[in-house]
Amino acid sequence: MARETIIAAGSNGPEDEQFNTALRPHSLDECIGSPELMEKLRIAITAARQRSEPMEHVMLHGPPGLGKTTLAYVIAHEMGATIKVTSGPALTRPSDLIGILTNLDTGDVLFIDEIHRLTPAVEEYIYPAMEDFKVDFVVDSGMHSRTINLPLKPFTLIGATTRAGMLSPPLRTRFGIAHHLEFWSDEDLARRVRMTADMLKIAYDDDAILTIARRARGTPRIANRLVRRCRDFAQVKGDGRLTPKAVNAALNLEGIDLLGLDDLDRKFLGIIIDIYRGGPVGIEAAAATLGEEVDTLVDVVEPFLLQRGLLARTRRGRSVTLKAYDHLGLPAPADDRPDAPLFGDPPA
Ligand code: ADP
Repeated sequence: MARETIIAAGSNGPEDEQFNTALRPHSLDECIGSPELMEKLRIAITAARQRSEPMEHVMLHGPPGLGKTTLAYVIAHEMGATIKVTSGPALTRPSDLIGILTNLDTGDVLFIDEIHRLTPAVEEYIYPAMEDFKVDFVVDSGMHSRTINLPLKPFTLIGATTRAGMLSPPLRTRFGIAHHLEFWSDEDLARRVRMTADMLKIAYDDDAILTIARRARGTPRIANRLVRRCRDFAQVKGDGRLTPKAVNAALNLEGIDLLGLDDLDRKFLGIIIDIYRGGPVGIEAAAATLGEEVDTLVDVVEPFLLQRGLLARTRRGRSVTLKAYDHLGLPAPADDRPDAPLFGDPPA
């Protein structure tokens, strides 16, 4: 399916992950992105290094594929630290987390992806670890039970989440630095596309670079994948050079339109229009109609459609905008339907 091969902003298996890793910048200077964020990180890193302390805990949130993992690695690299990587769903029991925490060395960076998916039982151990660099746990039960207090070496926790709203307030407040990653501008994506093409030693026209950037859904991970698809196409159908013609043909073949939407994006907008008369519709109902996971729609599909103004989220559910009708080449509804019925559940 197109989303899995191209548009999925998340990882597509080990090969894709390897490719992603190879294309990650290592230092802040190589990083593309908002100068304010880079400056904020540079100051925090320099200050911590000057004091010979680990950096403050960092929370990065935003849709998948925008650079949370990359920043975690860059911070560790700039701190001269070792990074340990895990994820919320992998830490099912408190002992999983305690095992990792007690093995951290002074200054190490612990990266927890999808941190919003930690269970409350595990999360409880994170608070004292973050605040006082210790874990308390109870061994035995009944009259033999005792609390063991284990000191930890000072470390930096970097948490990443696609759903900042699902973080518990006590966890959220324990991060010294929190940053929301936005979709990338076309200019930044063009820099990324050029960087990727150079690294992969692909010849290109400048216009072709901009075309890929504009159709990459604001997401560097997708931009990287599109470069590979276009390279394959140019190699088989042309002379290997990325020209605007080859790139447009390759992206059309993949079902990616001029705004970067793919089949699933268009289907999502389409069912809201066809079945729910433009909305509002609850996300659960829309997901059921589409046969998709709610999480996929909320984490991957919706954020970009919202950001591009094709979808609106109200208390009564999701509605498509006039811009969406226009983009899909459909006639706009005759009136603004003040009596539009409420379909499905209200949004989360
Ligand atoms: P996330 O963790 O948010 O899902 P990643 O960190 O895996 O996203 O980023 C996906 C890809 O985007 C990386 O492999 C890298 O090639 C590119 N990328 C991300 N952030 C940057 C950046 N600041 N500068 C250059 N490339 C980046």
